[in-house]
Amino acid sequence: MKPFYGCYHTNFDEWQQHDRIMAEYIWIDGTGINLRSKSRSLDKKIECLADLPDWNFDGSSTEQACTEDSEVIIKPVAYFKDPFRGGDNLLVLCSSYSWTDETRTELKPANTNFRYFSEPIFEECKDEQPWYGIEQEYYLMECSNAFTQWPLGWPEGGFPSSQGPYYCSVGATVCYGRAVVDTHYRACLAAGVNISGTNGETMPGQWEFQVGPCEGISIGDHLWMARYLLERVSEDLGVAVSFDPKPIKGDWAGAGGHVNFSTKTMREEGGLKEIYEAVDKMKERQKEHLDLYGLDNEKRLTGKNETCAHGEFTCGVGDRTASIRIPTSVESSKMGYLEDRRPASNLDPYLVGAILVSTCVIGESK
Ligand code: ADP
Ligand code: MN
Ligand code: MN
Ligand code: MN
Ligand code: MN
Repeated sequence: MKPFYGCYHTNFDEWQQHDRIMAEYIWIDGTGINLRSKSRSLDKKIECLADLPDWNFDGSSTEQACTEDSEVIIKPVAYFKDPFRGGDNLLVLCSSYSWTDETRTELKPANTNFRYFSEPIFEECKDEQPWYGIEQEYYLMECSNAFTQWPLGWPEGGFPSSQGPYYCSVGATVCYGRAVVDTHYRACLAAGVNISGTNGETMPGQWEFQVGPCEGISIGDHLWMARYLLERVSEDLGVAVSFDPKPIKGDWAGAGGHVNFSTKTMREEGGLKEIYEAVDKMKERQKEHLDLYGLDNEKRLTGKNETCAHGEFTCGVGDRTASIRIPTSVESSKMGYLEDRRPASNLDPYLVGAILVSTCVIGESK
């Protein structure tokens, strides 16, 4: 199917917005992984976050409120250019809140507003300038109807030949869905999302993109916006996206969300020592970390398919069976970053980012 982002009218480019803009307000729904959005017109070009008004939606339709008291308030937290609509139009990422009681004077964070809970931790650690690079793995799924989804490129209801030729593949017999991946890549760059690359993954129909390095809480904003853009592109191409960490049982690769992490001290001369100290602290808090690393992650962390088993904790240089991998370039330069390979594809980047910096910098339970 041909990508389609415009309008059927041939003189569309000449249509004026008369100084008004379209703002697409986006939020994470009650599932903690699905996104929702709706649009509104604003009367002038936006110069800063404070120019964007709060809004609301029906939380009873998103698993975020009951029908009797359904209103959820959304507050803009970051905005990006809208690559689909162009011009001064915007994509606005929001955090969700609900009223504490009937007086409706005070707001509390709605469920899945993990940005709110992580913010004080990022704030406390900001002098260490934590950087994050997240590798977002995902699957493209054929979706002829809402009930049956099967990986793109697989025989209907059947299985392809076993894994091996698909990772970073080229060619029509092994590589499925590049149009989606490349359109998404361009959309991220056009929006101002800090995407750092893409690659085909181990399972046919599986892909990855990377976001980062981003400092502090901005990793969450950029990763969520990148996910939104992927969902939008997939609509136009009639292909579904899955962030399920293990959609196909058996010897088929699961999907991870490796988090590459560093602090200022780690990036400075001799930072490798700090990296190993951080690994020791992470080992002590293995359970607390895994609890926040994504739903159904234990189905993926089997000890096979380039993972370390759920109950174990290991660290190695250039080791893709380890929980934590130290890149070989980091070992030789004695500074840099570490890769936490445990998080699943459906991770929340605010939660994972916050616990990582809290463990490694503050070094106590938060
Ligand atoms: P892998 O070799 O595991 O496949 P990728 O190349 O997919 O790794 O992703 C590495 C990610 O780490 C990129 O997003 C990159 O921007 C990020 N990164 C690089 N240097 C740092 C650093 N010092 N701190 C945090 N993230 C970093
Ligand atoms: Mn209505
Ligand atoms: Mn990668
Ligand atoms: Mn990968
Ligand atoms: Mn990786």
